[in-house]
Amino acid sequence: MRPAVIVIDMLEDFVYGGLKCERAERILGPIGRLLDGARSSGTPVIFSNDAHIPEVDHEFEVWGPHAVAGTPGAEVISSLAPEDEDYVVPKRRYSGFYGTDLDMLLNELEVDTVVLTGLHTNICVRHTAADAFYRGYKVLVPTDAVEAFTEEDQTSGLEYLKMVYGAEITDVEALLERIAGATVEG
Ligand code: ZN
Repeated sequence: MRPAVIVIDMLEDFVYGGLKCERAERILGPIGRLLDGARSSGTPVIFSNDAHIPEVDHEFEVWGPHAVAGTPGAEVISSLAPEDEDYVVPKRRYSGFYGTDLDMLLNELEVDTVVLTGLHTNICVRHTAADAFYRGYKVLVPTDAVEAFTEEDQTSGLEYLKMVYGAEITDVEALLERIAGATVEG
């Protein structure tokens, strides 16, 4: 397994701002621990960030304005801020792959497994999982590192990922052990 950890939309607007998800608080600690473990074992960390263009991106018709490129609302929250060795891939759709160079980056990094974290389990995580699945990546989802607006969205979102994309549903502690092990095994 050659994994990369992908952090989806852990941005000011989604965690604290206009599109605030109250339940996001729960996943901040686990994501932070996962990123620390990933970095120290040489596992790539990739931020997949909404960066919208106003008046153009039709997602605003559904959600209203959010994560406008270049504004504070589109910044990764400071407690999870990207570090020098991390990668940041802006996106303008739910999927981290659509219209971005994420697939090229994963290929260059020789990644075969994506660990999806962040917001929301049933929206951007789901669409990113779909595109990962189409491209042949194995998908791992730690339940303590993804969230959604409601418990129902979270539960049904996870079930969908498992059923439709064969996602392995796991948790951060288990992943940290496997990431360390993958490095040892090469
Ligand atoms: Zn968006």
